[in-house]
Amino acid sequence: MKEVKSPRKPLIYYYGIVLLVLLLFNLLVTPLLSQRQVQEVDYGTFMSMIDEKNIGEVEVSDSSIVFTDKEGTTVYETGAMEDPGLTERLYASGAVFAKDIERTMSPVLSFLLTFVLPMVIFIGLGQYMSKKILQQMGGKNSMSFGMGKSNAKVYVQSTEGIRFDDVAGEDEAKESLAEIVDYLHNPKKYTDVGASMPKGVLLVGPPGTGKTMLAKAVAGEANVPFFSISGSEFVEMFVGMGASKVRDLFRQAKEKAPCIVFIDEIDAIGKKRDGQYGGNDEREQTLNQLLTEMDGFEGNNGVIILAATNRPESLDPALTRPGRFDRRVPVELPDLQGREAILKVHAKKIKVADDVDFHTIARMASGASGAELANIINEAALRAVRSGRTVVSEADLEESIEVVIAGYQKKNAVLSDQEKRVVAYHEIGHALVAAMQSHSAPVQKITIIPRTSGALGYTMQVEEGDKYLMTKQEIENKIATFTGGRAAEEVVFGEITTGASNDIEQATKLARAMITRYGMSDEFDMVAMETVNNQYLGGDTSLACSADTQKEIDRKVVELVKAQHEKAKKILQENREKLDVLAEYLYEKETITGGEFMKILNGQEE
Ligand code: ADP
Ligand code: ZN
Repeated sequence: MKEVKSPRKPLIYYYGIVLLVLLLFNLLVTPLLSQRQVQEVDYGTFMSMIDEKNIGEVEVSDSSIVFTDKEGTTVYETGAMEDPGLTERLYASGAVFAKDIERTMSPVLSFLLTFVLPMVIFIGLGQYMSKKILQQMGGKNSMSFGMGKSNAKVYVQSTEGIRFDDVAGEDEAKESLAEIVDYLHNPKKYTDVGASMPKGVLLVGPPGTGKTMLAKAVAGEANVPFFSISGSEFVEMFVGMGASKVRDLFRQAKEKAPCIVFIDEIDAIGKKRDGQYGGNDEREQTLNQLLTEMDGFEGNNGVIILAATNRPESLDPALTRPGRFDRRVPVELPDLQGREAILKVHAKKIKVADDVDFHTIARMASGASGAELANIINEAALRAVRSGRTVVSEADLEESIEVVIAGYQKKNAVLSDQEKRVVAYHEIGHALVAAMQSHSAPVQKITIIPRTSGALGYTMQVEEGDKYLMTKQEIENKIATFTGGRAAEEVVFGEITTGASNDIEQATKLARAMITRYGMSDEFDMVAMETVNNQYLGGDTSLACSADTQKEIDRKVVELVKAQHEKAKKILQENREKLDVLAEYLYEKETITGGEFMKILNGQEE
């Protein structure tokens, strides 16, 4: 970033502006401000204030009565009424009959508002500006001017009170953090042996898995102050500002030790300093300052730095070397058990029917992060409110999973009859191919109600438990299932539609991974042709092979998908009758469950 040199303005210049603003303020704002607040009240209030002898001044006109209370602090107004004995009663209450009750405020207050307040605001602003300018000119002495404050939010245990129990699942992460809690409780135990805690702990995992929560929970369990700041907040317009923020943060933290400092999105400052594109001075200075601070403090001064990132591969190695962020705690997407636990934790905040089976819901929400699961619970509660119920049912939860996956139902999207029929066949095509291959997961639900995500229908497949390994056969079957939709269109209508674009994408991804990453082709054996770049964010890959090999890979991918496509077509042709019956049934009902599907498939029609 280029430093901006700004010419030093003569002092008189500022005084000029001060005067000008004061003048303007008095002209424009003062008339508005100095109006005393007139409070409109009903006649009853007026009468009871008379009874309480709480009327100071009063002015009765034809249409309205304006009066003040005894202290004269507030001016009230009420409409005039037919009230014969009013004058006597007012007199008896000791009210003073006045003409033109002053609706302006006391001179002292008005002086404060019209003169002192703008002065204070302006001087504050002027100081801020001049510091900014000095900052740009000199840079160095920023601390002495109070600039470059870290702005870290301090959470004390009582305000948030998040404990390990609030973070469901993530047992491994909790275990490795428990040691830090123990250290903060009882540092002597560690110093006696001569052990020193890691200064920095890096929480690594996909977004929404509870990294921030875990950091807060460590502070909550240890009952120490919690400083939180996001890496992006360090990156400032002006070179040197970020570094001074780091200095300030650590100064504050050392004062409050023992404490936790949490730096979210540390990748914003901790990116590899590769020197490309001319480098980024500000970020590098900030990172250097952070490294210096971490090296500077003694191992056992009680400041523990937790940092979170979802792109650990992009961090500068200097940051992760021993003595800095040398402990890495993976915070992965929750498994089946974890999902169930997270759902239950969040379900405590809402009213849920007794018969809700969270195990099923957790199974349906495979691949969801903690944040998504929290969202699913909330969507379900909203849905219950929308339909006027007081407890959340299992159907609400199921629907909200679909909302989170596929978007809201598009109530007014009207498919033509023919389109609807094609979609019905397409979805049954997927489900039937899946069901006829023994290794595929059973279908949970098939629907042809359009969604806001653009999906015209979908088949929801649910695994029985968590799957950590997939066989080659299973991946092939999955590819066949993806091609099943298009295959049904071909078999039944002899024509193909655009409805399969997502299927095509998924099938290709799987096939490519089989060849380039899982070593599942004869030709390339166990050679990696692709590397995953950021495993936590979408997992895009980059090729690591020669152009010739790329050509070969492309050919192989096509071959593989084609073979599975043929297999799917064959399955559907062989089961044409079932296909027709099921598609007709889905066309009529629009949504069918896996149970209904299996019943018809096994020939037990109702
Ligand atoms: P991250 O920092 O990893 O992006 P957060 O800690 O900010 O994720 O989590 C976001 C929200 O998701 C939390 O406020 C919480 O409601 C929910 N959440 C995530 N993981 C969990 C979990 N393991 N248990 C309970 N709630 C969770
Ligand atoms: Zn499809």
